[in-house]
Amino acid sequence: MTANTAARLLQHYVDNFRPLPWRSPPGAPPPHPYRVWLSEVMLQQTTVAAVTPRFARFVTRWPSIEELAAADESAILSEWAGLGYYARARNLIACAREVARRGGFPMTAAELRRLPGIGAYTSAAIATIAFGERVAAVDTNVERVIARLHGVKNRSRREIERLTLAMTPAERPGDFVQALMDLGATVCRPKAPRCSACPVAPYCAAFGSGKPEAFPERKPCAARPHRHGIAWWIERGGSVWLVRRPAVGLLGGMAALPGPEWTDEAPLANPIVTVRHVFTHFSLDLAIILRGEPAGEGWWQPIAGLADAGLPTLYRRAAERVLDVRRAA
Ligand code: SF4
Repeated sequence: MTANTAARLLQHYVDNFRPLPWRSPPGAPPPHPYRVWLSEVMLQQTTVAAVTPRFARFVTRWPSIEELAAADESAILSEWAGLGYYARARNLIACAREVARRGGFPMTAAELRRLPGIGAYTSAAIATIAFGERVAAVDTNVERVIARLHGVKNRSRREIERLTLAMTPAERPGDFVQALMDLGATVCRPKAPRCSACPVAPYCAAFGSGKPEAFPERKPCAARPHRHGIAWWIERGGSVWLVRRPAVGLLGGMAALPGPEWTDEAPLANPIVTVRHVFTHFSLDLAIILRGEPAGEGWWQPIAGLADAGLPTLYRRAAERVLDVRRAA
């Protein structure tokens, strides 16, 4: 099945190519590794639809990794606002500076993996898409497609990588991995796979079983802990008092409303609004409370210019809710 499956997948990719701004058309010279790397880091937590305009803004502002490496850290963190998980943004900056110092990206997955914030998947994706190395880049879409094609319910990531690599052709391995990614995103979907539109259905063990969505087996989700926090709304003359969070930790280095550390206990407080936000490892109720005097080191941000403050989603939503309540009062 391997050669036929690979050929069909590649043809399907050619016929249904999605012209995303970080991609090159099938068969064309590969995209610059800067664009592949940046898009992969952005896509780790956000959808293609959400990333597409943000990617365009990023590369317009910093067209090369050298320009990104030379940029002010707070400007990059502000531009990252809303893309989630700020440890990634800080790793992005560290990686850009290391690549600029070296004079360019290394060309193999093994060397790429030594750069800050680049794990097994991202290093393989850059190596195969930008440099044509024949390696297996297994994200959740690829894992699902391979598991279904081989009828694998419960195998380790290493085994899935081995099966992926066995199918990967020596020619155009980057197009092949993108063909797998696209099939997983658009046809071999988690809940309702479109097997009738799938070019490799004749070779697919999961399709043959009659229950393709049963592959691979889903792991039970662990319960997400819940936490509580307070943030103060301190307003004076059309401005609100903002602070910068500590460099290390969740939302590190980002602009924020001031407030004490989050706890497991609900506060005894009378908030203007409470905002619920779901992080990767816990959910949070953030109570916004009026306060008169500034708290901590910070600055007065004009409310009319709040959009330029680089607030992460949690605090941006909190500010929007406060302003909504005031408008309705
Ligand atoms: Fe996925 Fe169905 Fe195609 Fe198999 S036939 S790869 S289950 S879409």
